Amino acid sequence: MQAWIGIGANLGDARANAEDAIARLRCAPGITVTAVSSLYRTAPIDSSGDDYINAVARVATTLAPQALLDALFDIEQAHGRERPYRNAPRTLDLDLLLYGDDIIATPTLTVPHPRMTERAFVLVPLLEIDPEVVVPGLGKAATFCARVADQRIDKVA
Ligand code: ADP
Ligand code: MG
Repeated sequence: MQAWIGIGANLGDARANAEDAIARLRCAPGITVTAVSSLYRTAPIDSSGDDYINAVARVATTLAPQALLDALFDIEQAHGRERPYRNAPRTLDLDLLLYGDDIIATPTLTVPHPRMTERAFVLVPLLEIDPEVVVPGLGKAATFCARVADQRIDKVA
């Protein structure tokens, strides 16, 4: 199955944390990284603290959706992720954006990720690696880009 992972960090050395997350994804059992976007710098949305570093990875995986999410949590934990309050600054946030064209709604997992079409920090890196990607139930991701044009996002040099 193909899946897309959103990567975000804004505590500590955010760039190093994002790069380490990608390295850990490459080593994770049942996960093969097939594409990684550039790193992007974005202003926090509904959150506080420093700018975020964001990226998106495409993976091929043999893991079921919840098992894949658990693997992402393990990588977050390795970075000492704490959740003191909603939308708190975070060393590392890994979100399951898309899992093939599956639509999933369980108490712990909603796919497609509910806010992905409203966030430039997801759409821009996602479209960099997969310009034609479709968000199941919503249509081509590219059609949502114009709506997030006011959100600041810069490629990291
Ligand atoms: P957010 O990423 O929304 O800022 P968290 O990373 O703290 O917040 O995630 C909160 C909860 O969201 C997690 O406990 C997880 O079970 C749930 N969740 C639901 N759907 C997803 C998804 N597609 N990807 C990641 N987490 C998800
Ligand atoms: Mg998350």
